[in-house]
Amino acid sequence: MKVSSDMRIRVLLVEDEAGDAQLVKMDLRQAKNEKFTVTWIESLGEIPACLQASTFDVLLLDLSLPDSNGLATVCKACLMVGAMPIIVLTGHDDTDFALKALEAGAADYVIKGDFGNNCLAKAIFYALFRADMEARNNLLVAALEAAANGIIITDTDAKITWVNPAFTKLTGYSLAESIGQRPNQLTKSGLQDEVFYQTLWGDILQGKHWRGELINKRKDGSLYHEELSIAPVQNRAGTITHFIGIKVDISERKQFEEQLQKLANTDPLTDLYNRRFFLDALTQETARLARFENQSAALLMIDLDYFKCVNDTYGHSTGDEVLRQVAHILRQTLRTIDIPARLGGEEFAILLLGASQSDTMVIAERLRQQMTTIAIPHEKGVVRITVSIGAAALSADLDGDAVLKQADTALYAAKDAGRNQSCWYYPKNQSTKDE
Ligand SMILES: [Mg+2]
Repeated sequence: MKVSSDMRIRVLLVEDEAGDAQLVKMDLRQAKNEKFTVTWIESLGEIPACLQASTFDVLLLDLSLPDSNGLATVCKACLMVGAMPIIVLTGHDDTDFALKALEAGAADYVIKGDFGNNCLAKAIFYALFRADMEARNNLLVAALEAAANGIIITDTDAKITWVNPAFTKLTGYSLAESIGQRPNQLTKSGLQDEVFYQTLWGDILQGKHWRGELINKRKDGSLYHEELSIAPVQNRAGTITHFIGIKVDISERKQFEEQLQKLANTDPLTDLYNRRFFLDALTQETARLARFENQSAALLMIDLDYFKCVNDTYGHSTGDEVLRQVAHILRQTLRTIDIPARLGGEEFAILLLGASQSDTMVIAERLRQQMTTIAIPHEKGVVRITVSIGAAALSADLDGDAVLKQADTALYAAKDAGRNQSCWYYPKNQSTKDE
């Protein structure tokens, strides 16, 4: 029940002494702020019938009754009244006994004959107030326990004081395993640097909310992506006492984003980078060359010789297999820092980072020779291919399109010279042949 000052409080009084019962009724009638309705019964056994007939807010319980005596009376009454607060009326001015009554489930105790100073009415009011608070707390805890997101509470020393079942499900650590530990002792993956944690702590110790994404580690050692929000909790004096962290498992979303990213950047047939990604990489590398001196990079354009004939003679699925094998050779032959792409059709390009002209031509020749090893069996005979390659240097003075054009010019020179060869780009009036 919600406690308010103008409510009428329904009291069930269990007291076998008529005189004591009268004293209670009289005291409550004279109460200053609260209004009470008292229903009086004389034994424990009458409680269930009373509860069936009517609703009560509080039970006032004498412990010496015809059908029960002592602490057992509190225990039995608890079972009968459920969550309703019980205030014990005791003749004993005995603190130990009173504490035992509280342990047995009573909300409070009042010494009979000592009701002065509005004390019985106050005891009832506070018992109801505490029961109301407890019910609300239980509700909030139930909400936190039912939450789908992991919730973690730490003190200002970052030691965990509580976690919810979703935290356990996410990390593998139970409440008992978590309490007293610091989150970093449980879930730190080592994949965030110290600056990351310094920024986080800097923010929350200033009372700011913090939100970010990180990779954490479960109890079984597996990693997961997490979105974490941390809110500092302050007491009435404005001092931070706790931090509440809310964890959302975003592993699936990250995986989806990575797939989208891959789809956006790669050619589905060969799994090489696509034209868009390649042109971005070319622009970035050109910008990098403009910033740093003494750096070099080169571009290869590769075209399959007479590829239209392959498609026309052996069919498109064989043509596709040729393209996949070309991609395979590129992946096998190139260094991990190089960026191979299929620009479209039978046209491939490679960005060779840090490569000089001579490095580039060595790589181009190696690739050209490797491509001649492709041999795809077909009922009309074994399918073999050759490639022509054009090469040009990247330069801070040239944008990506200009370098592509130069490499393309060199490629056409290679084709004009009879195909199955590689050419370096030279400006007009110079030979483009470089073998
Ligand atoms: Mg009695």
